[in-house]
Amino acid sequence: MNILILGSGGREHAFAWKIVQSPLCDDLFVAPGNAGTAKIARNLPFAANDFEAVAKAITEHRIDLVLIGPEEPLVNGIVDYIKSLPELKHVKLIGPDAMGAQLEGSKDFSKNFMQKHGIPTAASQTFTPETLSKGLEYLQQHSLPIVLKADGLAAGKGVVIAETVKQAEGTLVEMLMDRKFGDAGKKVVIEQFLKGIELSVFVLTDGKKYKILPEAKDYKRIGENDTGLNTGGMGAVSPVIFADEDFMRKVEEKVVKPTLAGLQEEGIKYVGFIFIGLMNVKGEPYVIEYNVRMGDPETEVVLPRLHSDLVPLLIAASKGTIEDVEMTISPQVAVTTVLVSGGYPEAYEKGKVIENLEKCEDVMTFHAGTQFNGQEEIVTAGGRVLAVTGMANSIENAVMKSQKAAHTLRFEGKYYRSDIGIDLIRYRD
Ligand code: ATP
Repeated sequence: MNILILGSGGREHAFAWKIVQSPLCDDLFVAPGNAGTAKIARNLPFAANDFEAVAKAITEHRIDLVLIGPEEPLVNGIVDYIKSLPELKHVKLIGPDAMGAQLEGSKDFSKNFMQKHGIPTAASQTFTPETLSKGLEYLQQHSLPIVLKADGLAAGKGVVIAETVKQAEGTLVEMLMDRKFGDAGKKVVIEQFLKGIELSVFVLTDGKKYKILPEAKDYKRIGENDTGLNTGGMGAVSPVIFADEDFMRKVEEKVVKPTLAGLQEEGIKYVGFIFIGLMNVKGEPYVIEYNVRMGDPETEVVLPRLHSDLVPLLIAASKGTIEDVEMTISPQVAVTTVLVSGGYPEAYEKGKVIENLEKCEDVMTFHAGTQFNGQEEIVTAGGRVLAVTGMANSIENAVMKSQKAAHTLRFEGKYYRSDIGIDLIRYRD
């Protein structure tokens, strides 16, 4: 079958790397892709959000299955759009419709969903410009720190953990009245702060049944020891040592099953991945957020641990038969380190030549912001440039492989964190 992946990050390169290994995949396309996907698939020159171009490409390249990588096209309704075209009715789509995508597209929607379906999450209330004074009052009574979240998509920047009432009040006014995050801040969720350890659990579902993929921990801050600004993600590790059998059983019973039951009760037909951001609070799972797609860089450690062919799982998800497909997971540890452009997540330069790609043999090198410069060279083209995944029987060796490659790769201004996975080694010891 012919498969199209939408997106251009490390996540999409990891999907392409996995899918291209399947005997079921004839031709693989990625739109718009990057220099890494260009080597193993055919890049198509349009944005993941360009619905008409996507539909045209499906017809032109006889695409049977589309996997939507990033959240934006899902929230904007790409699945509804493709389904509405009679000539594309047969196409299998991996990703929820716009209604299902609200789980990520609106924090107010997802908090209501969790409360309604008894899914453990932090207590919260939502405020609008009309209820600003109530919101300010609410802040006065609340314990600190307190979490304020812009309702809509804000690329991970719309969450503020306020340490003082004054900071919380300022943030609420900025979001609701000054529209710091534009329309994403038309509503603000004010939430209790949860103290615990964070991890992510990934589910592939056909809407009723599901498979739980390997869990992962990501590293969001730019600086070592989780300091400095938030980024798209600087690294990830799978498995996560504190997600033991007992905890994962609680996740399945208290979170995954009620989430799937809730979706069915709401009449949402959900086909695709659900990324569940969790806080482990003294051994109990609390949902911080849902994402309606896989994570980046978590995909770069989750897929390398998937022994089974991914394509039959995707087909089964779209047909409602996911329970019939076997899934096997490698017990090995996967660690990925993300290499970023100097200055990221603030202003950075592009177009720097990347060297030594051929010297990284013992790792999987996933491209994110890379492109060819027209002279056979691969150059930087974004903030996050590459993710290098090392796999080994021990976390120490997986960290070592990933760090060695991160050190070997070269481009002007290169930066990476050298502490990915170190906290998990300490936790174990
Ligand atoms: P991203 O896109 O980066 O995943 P987001 O904008 O969707 O983020 P959340 O995941 O809800 O927002 O929050 C971002 C981060 O803020 C979380 O990963 C977590 O570290 C922290 N956080 C969110 N809610 C809470 C909470 N209730 N208690 C403690 N920390 C929280």
